[in-house]
This record gives sequence, structure tokens and C-alpha cells, in this order.
Amino acid sequence: MRPQRHLRLQCQKRRHTQLPDVVSPAVRSRMMSGIRGKDTKPELTMRTGLHALGYRYRLHDRALPGKPDIVFQGRKALIFVHGCFWHHHDCHLFKWPKSRPDFWREKITANQVNDEKHIASLREAGWRVLVVWECALKGKTRLPVGDPVIQASNWLESGSVFLEIRGAD
Ligand code: ZN
Repeated sequence: MRPQRHLRLQCQKRRHTQLPDVVSPAVRSRMMSGIRGKDTKPELTMRTGLHALGYRYRLHDRALPGKPDIVFQGRKALIFVHGCFWHHHDCHLFKWPKSRPDFWREKITANQVNDEKHIASLREAGWRVLVVWECALKGKTRLPVGDPVIQASNWLESGSVFLEIRGAD
């Protein structure tokens, strides 16, 4: 096992133990799938689709604020694929957990503040930023298959400095 992989597993394990214990299996599954980390399914959908369209990119660039998920260096453009729970999206995938309310309020609010800071720094540095929300790719508000990838591609070809793609609610 490579050291990095090992670290990641440990990290996920620790996060797992922080999840509230009084949630339904459906809610828990939604929260687990929204756990920030590499290779979440919505992110894979975007990567695979954009790769198929011929785009090449770097992943999880640690040199940039917020470690953006997909980075198009030459185009000075990047994509964050955000889990709606962890990034406090105003959509049906977000619900405050019932247990440990103070813990979650602090954690989720900090994530949100950091997201805003990261995007502001990136834009000041001349990066174009696209945020793709999880709800655009899964659940009852998901867009037609392929649609988020096409929107992302159109955005990459445009000169637009900022765009969000979200579910159809
Ligand atoms: Zn959402």
C-alpha cells in the first residue's frame, strides 16, 4: 500500500467516526457520499466526461487555494465539484444533522467561509472558476446525463470568469 493511500484511508476512517449516530441510513449514505476527498462519484463523472471530450487537466492541485479538483492550467480555468452537505448548498441534499449541532454548525460554516476565500483568491490571481454542485449530478434534481459536462465544456470555451452548475430544483 502506498503511503498516500494509507493516509487517506486513515483520514476517511476518522471522518467516519465524526458522523452523527442518529441519522437514517439514507441520510448517512448521502453524507458519506458527500465526504470531501478525492474521487467522489460526481467528480469522476465530470472528469471522465471532460476527458472524453478531449480535455486534459491536473487533479487536486495543492499549489492552488482550496486544492481545486480539476485544473486546466493552460486555460487558467478550474473546477470545484462540491458535495452539497460539506459545502452547505441551499438544496435538498443539505440538512443539518440532528446530533452534535454545535460541532456541525462550526465545521460546515468554516468550510463555507474557506470556499469563499479560496474562490476570491483564485479569481484575484486571474483564474476562471466553475463550481459544479453534487445535486446537478445525483438525486432527484440531477440534470440529464451529460448535461453538466456539456455546460462545463461550453464554459471552458467561453471567457466567463465564474459559473455554478446546480440541480434543477
Ligand atoms: Zn446542492
